[in-house]
Amino acid sequence: MIVVMDDKATEQKVQIVISKLRELGYEVHRSDGVNQTVLGAVGEKRDIDLRDIELLDGVREVIPITKPYKLAGREFHPDDTVIKIKNVEIGGHRIVLMAGPCSVEDLESTRKIAQSVAKDGATVLRGGAFKPRTSPYAFQGLGEDGLKFLRAAADETGMLAISEVMDVSQLELVSRYVDILQVGARNMQNFFLLKELGKTRIPIMLKRGMAATIEDWLMAAEYILAGGNYQVMLCERGIRTFENYTRNTLDLSAIPVVKKLSHLPVLVDPSHGTGRRDKVIPMARAAVAVGADGLMIEVHSAPDSALSDGAQSLYLQQFTQLVGELKMIAHAVNKII
Ligand code: PEP
Ligand code: MN
Repeated sequence: MIVVMDDKATEQKVQIVISKLRELGYEVHRSDGVNQTVLGAVGEKRDIDLRDIELLDGVREVIPITKPYKLAGREFHPDDTVIKIKNVEIGGHRIVLMAGPCSVEDLESTRKIAQSVAKDGATVLRGGAFKPRTSPYAFQGLGEDGLKFLRAAADETGMLAISEVMDVSQLELVSRYVDILQVGARNMQNFFLLKELGKTRIPIMLKRGMAATIEDWLMAAEYILAGGNYQVMLCERGIRTFENYTRNTLDLSAIPVVKKLSHLPVLVDPSHGTGRRDKVIPMARAAVAVGADGLMIEVHSAPDSALSDGAQSLYLQQFTQLVGELKMIAHAVNKII
């Protein structure tokens, strides 16, 4: 259930309500909005009389939560979540650009790409060090060396760093180097990993699984939130359909749907979403137009010789030009880049 406190409820009154909910066996998640405090009481309890809570001092309203994703939904948290990491805000007025190679390949190319995309306005450097490849014979990533190169290039350019964690065994290592942990499409329902991420306080980007419904996706986010880690952003990266002209079908209709259901920031990855460089550009423009909070785009200094996903990686110059266009589209939807 959601307990909405009065505007003027004192901290003491809030604490009394929290204790009562805990006594009843609920886990309590607190959200302090601009005007009031909202308490999300989560747990599979039956036979609770809501009036017992309604009558407590300082309580304005008690609302049963109808959605299965209790913490990810707007009922619990009506305002947009804005995740602040150093000087970057994700989910606010400014659209966030995450860019970089699919895989970190070496220090030199990572620095070159970082310098170029940072100059264009990207604030988060992407790059995989542990790669989930379809073939076990394909390049699997540089591991810790890749993380070191990514961190060095990010620091040099004042950017944040994001990289994928594929398994709980990598969590401690990857966390030492990045500002945002990426959960890949193939791991969206790795519940054991999600629970461990819920115990951290590191921002998480949760990509949509290839065959995940929007509800599956929000429930996966719920696993992280239920652990008390509220810094979760979502990323639409395309789903599998019968269409095979593009690598995946980029479900841009998911953006306004999720923005309505959830308060979490939603980004779009048109690179994995289309798999083809020439399609990345129009879909990136469209993503901004439908209200994405940010974009994750693969960019490479030499895409033709990239060790992974070269065909969907933009040339540096293409990214520069794209950002110029995105600025105009952002303006049209009342945002900035
Ligand atoms: C990636 O962004 O590096 C990646 C592997 O993406 P996805 O998990 O969406 O396939
Ligand atoms: Mn890739």
